[in-house]
Amino acid sequence: MASRTLRIGLIPGDGIGREVIPAGKKILESLPSSLGLKFSFVDLDAGYETFKQTGTALPDKTVETLQKECDGALFGAVSSPTTKVAGYTSPIVALRKKLSLFANVRPCKTTLSPAFASPTPHPIDLVIVRENTEDLYVKEEKTYADPSGEGQIAEAIKRISSKASWRIANIAGEIAVRRQKMRESAASAEEKDKKALVTITHKSNVLSQTDGLFRSTAREALSQAKFSSVAIEEQIVDSMVYKLFLQPQYYDVIVAPNLYGDLLSDGAAALVGSLGLVPSANVGDGIVIGEPCHGSAPDIEGKGIANPIATIRSVAVMLEFLDLPEAANVIYRAVDANLAEGSFVSPDLGGTAKTSQVVNDIIKRL
Ligand code: ATP
Repeated sequence: MASRTLRIGLIPGDGIGREVIPAGKKILESLPSSLGLKFSFVDLDAGYETFKQTGTALPDKTVETLQKECDGALFGAVSSPTTKVAGYTSPIVALRKKLSLFANVRPCKTTLSPAFASPTPHPIDLVIVRENTEDLYVKEEKTYADPSGEGQIAEAIKRISSKASWRIANIAGEIAVRRQKMRESAASAEEKDKKALVTITHKSNVLSQTDGLFRSTAREALSQAKFSSVAIEEQIVDSMVYKLFLQPQYYDVIVAPNLYGDLLSDGAAALVGSLGLVPSANVGDGIVIGEPCHGSAPDIEGKGIANPIATIRSVAVMLEFLDLPEAANVIYRAVDANLAEGSFVSPDLGGTAKTSQVVNDIIKRL
């Protein structure tokens, strides 16, 4: 097999980011040689500590190195100051903009571990695909005096374009097809039987123009011949929340505009039980950045007990989007096996294992 070398930027950021990103690096270094993959790494700065030391949370060098040198990257977490600090803005939000990472992809999968009682009776295995660039997040707000003379009025722009809606629905369709292929190579009959489904989420019954455009464009994108094996359905966002909590096992890929995607993905993370398990990837036309969904967790920083699985799964999602589904599958299965066997799970899941013990157990299973 021809070998492929990938350059990966490592951006640990703050807090437990510095404990889980080295774990992600170790997993990449330990992948079986039969996959024909090699990795080179570059350490990059970002975060609140970087801001305190240099006056910027996202140095130009970090952005340039990612743009010019890297195929992928792993981003840990950043601390958020409790009060507003002049000049500080979130580096990951800035990175998404600067690198045109238009999709935030968040897989949520139930943990089958003897150490941990799953919050839901049926296993969940779904992905939320959240549009990353527009909707209310264009942050065009204004406040002005109410012409009636009583108080003020505040307004925000909700911007939806057919271009962004089309590309996010297209990526959702591609993810559904890829997941179906990965399931076909799965061991359990239950997994094999699950059909590819994309659920388009919107509120076009009220917002007929903005969400109406999202809905019709997403439908058009998903009607391409390459998605003929994928079932398409729609859910109004409020009933989507209801059904997501009532029957989460039904869903496969959920695609949503920015705000609904944000809300749904945190809700889905709660359904699988620990932030320490939930990965994400920021995806565009070029580089892919894997990022655990959790924050910097200052309460457990430095104790060596952070669950590395959100990051390890983020490594796998990054590889999926670098068109390496086989390598991604090797990681997903090793993590699932670690959890199912349950000897080395971290305290957030009811176990006693240190971060390093979880990592070593997963490496043994790769
Ligand atoms: P930040 O301000 O960076 O968002 P936070 O503490 O408000 O930090 P999270 O870092 O997401 O938010 O943590 C929320 C809770 O989940 C904390 O109690 C934290 O210890 C726990 N937690 C988050 N990530 C992990 C992890 N990887 N392993 C174990 N526990 C975690």
